[in-house]
Amino acid sequence: MKLEELRTPVYVVDEEKLRHNLGILANVSARTGAKILLAQKAFSCYAFYPLISEYLCGSTASGLYEARLAHEEMGGEIHVYSPAYLDSEFPELAKICDVIVFNSTAQLKKFAPLSRGKSLGLRINPCFSTQKNAIYDPCAAGSRLGVTAEAFDEGVLPLLSGLHMHTLCEQGADALSATVAAAEEKFGKYFSKMRWLNLGGGHHITKEGYDIPLLERIVKRLQDKYGVQVYLEPGEAVALNAGYLYSRVLDVVENGMKIAILDASAECHMPDVLEMPYRPPLYGAGEAGEKPFTYRLSSRSCLAGDVIGDYSFEKPLQVGDMLRFDDMAIYTMVKNNTFNGMPLPSIAVKRGDVYEIIKEFGYSDFKSRL
Ligand SMILES: *Cc1c(COP(=O)(O)O)cnc(C)c1O
Repeated sequence: MKLEELRTPVYVVDEEKLRHNLGILANVSARTGAKILLAQKAFSCYAFYPLISEYLCGSTASGLYEARLAHEEMGGEIHVYSPAYLDSEFPELAKICDVIVFNSTAQLKKFAPLSRGKSLGLRINPCFSTQKNAIYDPCAAGSRLGVTAEAFDEGVLPLLSGLHMHTLCEQGADALSATVAAAEEKFGKYFSKMRWLNLGGGHHITKEGYDIPLLERIVKRLQDKYGVQVYLEPGEAVALNAGYLYSRVLDVVENGMKIAILDASAECHMPDVLEMPYRPPLYGAGEAGEKPFTYRLSSRSCLAGDVIGDYSFEKPLQVGDMLRFDDMAIYTMVKNNTFNGMPLPSIAVKRGDVYEIIKEFGYSDFKSRL
C-alpha cells in the first residue's frame, strides 16, 4: 500500500528506525557484555518480536500476560517483575520465566519455594530521585516500588541471584551514574554476592546526545568490580521515534480560534499526551503562531479536554488532510482504549515506501471488553 491509501487513524511502525535503535542497543551489549531486554510495557507489538530478538537477548514483563506474550512470540530470556504476584498466576510464571524479580522480601519468601531452579531477584529502592515528575518517580516519598535499605532483610540473601532497580524515566547516563552511586552506598555490600544486577529502564540511550560512553563505563565498572552480569531493560529506547500516528482532518470549527477535529484522539490513542502531559511532535507543523495558520488539534470524543495541542501550518487545513504525529510507537498501542466507543487505530508497518497493515480492529474489540 501507499501512504495515502491507509485508512486512519493508524499507527505506523517504521521498521528501519526500529532497526536503527536496536543496532545502537546491540552495540552497547557487544562492547560491554551487558544484556539488554525489551521492556514490553512500552511496546508490545509482537509482530516485531522476531526482529527485536535478532538484536536483544530477551524481554521483561510486568506480569503474566506480558510474560506469556514473550514466551509465545519472542523467546530468549524472559524476566518478570511485578509489585505483587497472584497465587493463581504464579505457577505459570514460574514455568515460563527465567528470572523473577520480587518487590518485597515477604513476596520473595512466599514464592521462593514455588520457583525452584529459577533465578530470583529483589527490587531495591535507592531513594534517590533524579526527576521532578512524581508520577514517574519510583524514588518519590511513599513509593511502593522496591525495598529500601531500611526494609532490606538480610535473611533473604541466600535466596537471591540478583538485585534490580528502576528509577529513571527518559534520562541520561549522568542520572544513571548518580543513581548507581547512591545504590552502591546503600546496597553495595550485597552486590558481590549476586550473579546479576539489573539497572532497569528509563535510559534514553537511542536519543540524540545520550552519553553512550558514560553508560558503558558504568556498566563495565559494575561488572568488573562486583563480578555481576549487568542487565538493562529499556522500553522507550527500543522504539523511540520509530512510529507515527496518522490521522485525518474531519472538520474545522471556530470558537475564538480555528479548531480541527481529527479522527485520532489524545484520550483514546495517545493517552500520555494528557497524562504526562506533553505536546507530541507533528510532522511539518510549527508552534502556535509560528507559521501563518494556527489550529487547535482535537478529537471527536466528548471530552472537552481531548486536545492534542496547538500547531501552525503553512497552508490552511482542509477536510481530508492527513497529519503525522511522531514518536507514537511507544506507550500508545499498549495504553489505548475505546472510551466513547472510539475505534482503535489500525497498526501498519513501513518498509521503505511500502506500507502494510498488520492489524485492524472493529466493533467487536469494543464490545468484547464490556
Ligand atoms: C517502565 C519500566 C521499564 C521501561 O522503562 P522505559 O522508560 O520505557 O525505558 C523497565 N523496567 C521497569 C521495572 C519499568 O517499570
